[in-house]
Amino acid sequence: MKIKRVHIGILLGIIALAVVPLVASASHSWNGYHWARTSNPFTLKLGDNVSSTWDPYLAAASSDWSTPPVSVTATDVLDTTVVSGKAKGACAVVTSGRVEVCNKAYGNNGWLGVAGVFVSDSHITAGYVKLNDTYFKTAKYNTPAWRQFVTCQEIGHTLGLDHQDEAFDNPNLGTCMDYTNDPSRNDGLGDNLHPNAHDYEELGLIYSHLDPSTTLSAGVPSAAAAAAASDKPADNDFGVPTGRKDPKGRDILFVKDLGGGARQFTWVIWAD
Ligand SMILES: [Zn+2]
Ligand SMILES: [Zn+2]
Repeated sequence: MKIKRVHIGILLGIIALAVVPLVASASHSWNGYHWARTSNPFTLKLGDNVSSTWDPYLAAASSDWSTPPVSVTATDVLDTTVVSGKAKGACAVVTSGRVEVCNKAYGNNGWLGVAGVFVSDSHITAGYVKLNDTYFKTAKYNTPAWRQFVTCQEIGHTLGLDHQDEAFDNPNLGTCMDYTNDPSRNDGLGDNLHPNAHDYEELGLIYSHLDPSTTLSAGVPSAAAAAAASDKPADNDFGVPTGRKDPKGRDILFVKDLGGGARQFTWVIWAD
């Protein structure tokens, strides 16, 4: 009986390996990376380490990602909740089992915002979002639209979502997961300040299965969680470019191998 189960498990694993790349390329999930959890819907904590200027944008993004519009028939698989931040040094240190959101004048390093995602094999174990006030205090980016767009997109990455589109100058798709040169513009599908129906449908697919354990609590006993808890994500050293570039030729996804199946990915949205 036991042996049979193992064989079925291996068979299912092989089928899953064969199917997953197809699904990933046909959709806008990000290689299937997801938080492990034992039941749905689940709640992901967003640690509030941001200044009062950013609080409304964090609150709105949390609410957006928690509440699919009524038009979406997919199950509501997840909620996010804003809790007291635990990050030290504007996300210099992050905590496993949650996402920390930070802002700071990180300097003229070129990036507007980054999302860091720690994974152990296919499971997300920790995340963080850094918002760079060095650019958000300039006339171009110091707008409610740019603040909301970047906050929404970086949190979206920590849920396991990819971009829906990476051209800057085409019509806005009505989602914060779409690159744009003007997030506030409505080209008929809505502005790019919030998720759209497709994002919630993707989340429904990514989180349609359940896992035997969870990565949503602190102190997850895994190498990756330990790495996430002790790693100090550098503000400018994101690791190795994965080859993903934006239309201006800039690398937008980096990876660091932390050993033992643990990796740190960093999504970067560059300022102009
Ligand atoms: Zn899983
Ligand atoms: Zn992005």
